[in-house]
Amino acid sequence: MKFYSTNNKNHIVDLKTAVLESLPPDNGLYMPETTPKLSSNFISKLSNFSFEEIAFEISRSLLKEDLSESEILTLCSNSINFPAPLAELDDVTFVLELFHGPSLAFKDFGARYMAQLMSVLNREDDRQLTILVATSGDTGGAVAAGFLNTPGINVHILYPSGKVSFLQEKQLTTLGGNIHAFEVDGTFDDCQSIVKQAFLDTELNKNYRLSSANSINIARLIPQSFYYFEAYKQVMHRSLPVVFSVPSGNFGNLTAGILAKRMGLPVEKYIAATNINKVIPDFLETGLYQPRPSKATISNAMDVGAPSNFARMQDIYQSDLQSFQKELIGYWFNDDDTKAAMKEIYDQYGYVIDPHGAVGYLATKAYRESSKDQFISIIHETAHPSKFLDVVEQVIGNKIDIPERLSSLSGKEKKSTVISSKYEDFKSWMLAQN
Ligand SMILES: *Cc1c(COP(=O)(O)O)cnc(C)c1O
Repeated sequence: MKFYSTNNKNHIVDLKTAVLESLPPDNGLYMPETTPKLSSNFISKLSNFSFEEIAFEISRSLLKEDLSESEILTLCSNSINFPAPLAELDDVTFVLELFHGPSLAFKDFGARYMAQLMSVLNREDDRQLTILVATSGDTGGAVAAGFLNTPGINVHILYPSGKVSFLQEKQLTTLGGNIHAFEVDGTFDDCQSIVKQAFLDTELNKNYRLSSANSINIARLIPQSFYYFEAYKQVMHRSLPVVFSVPSGNFGNLTAGILAKRMGLPVEKYIAATNINKVIPDFLETGLYQPRPSKATISNAMDVGAPSNFARMQDIYQSDLQSFQKELIGYWFNDDDTKAAMKEIYDQYGYVIDPHGAVGYLATKAYRESSKDQFISIIHETAHPSKFLDVVEQVIGNKIDIPERLSSLSGKEKKSTVISSKYEDFKSWMLAQN
């Protein structure tokens, strides 16, 4: 499979370059040159396949020129190894639980698959690959868990000291092994600036093979298409149109859904659900794309003012508003709406949902009210509610269970390297190690 840059269709690279480079030099995003269509026979028989087998079929259609069957099999079995079950709210409304991975967020799918794929692509190089990643909290946890013990790869995570939650910090600093945490005396922007300078530093690049675990890496997008098929499989016996509601920030998750449809998944509509950071819902209504500074909300993983995957969506729909509107509809909600929805879902269905999933629920409800047709809606629950413990317990007025893999972290010992926000500090630490 070859990939092109959304900024220049003639800039074509192979899989290894797209994945290890992460971003094209022209600041576009990599897109697969063709989207293979899965056979209608496969789609009609989805229920005969396990989640891992579905991942394998899709991966094979994309990667067969680059990897052997057995490599693709190992890639899928090492990364798509936790379930994506549906919880039923009522007979036409389902919650797709994407939080059964190690860091309790849907980002685990992308991070694990990317880690495994990088490891395979790096197999012929005897030099270690060093992944640098700056995090404001959540991404770092998924990346750390995803890359843990991956052969040939070390991960350096930079996070702002005192600015991530207690359990987020534990997710970054307690794994050990090939995961190393830098606690930066500064802000998230300082962390990001250090990472950017490192990639441009010739001396450092002589000593290290550096790569990025950036969220817009195509290797993180591909696996996010798998669970759309897995979810569809679980409701297809109902023979009703299927609509997905996707709580969105950078729109990687939703873009993967659009790709799933290109691969042949018969999805009726995608609902772009956001909080007050509503650049995309506004665009879908008016045709005007107006990025703006983000505002803080209780669904903070969606506090994005300039969604990075918009470039991919523009590419897919060839910047044609009507094509966008045919497949997507946008809704946005504020924090009060979101809290009311969390309470409603708890009281009415006995289900505990996190603030991001609650936004998806509201969007589904709004769409259902505007539509005469019968359909099944599937709401992405992008994180486990215990990751947002304070607001969830306060809203539902009850204690909730914290999964063992999160609660057990609180007793673990934190290990981090404290550095200043000056790039030179980081650089000299790195050079001293080599
Ligand atoms: C990252 C994240 C989102 C947003 O996903 P995008 O792919 O950036 O749109 C939504 N919910 C949670 C919990 C997240 O961590």
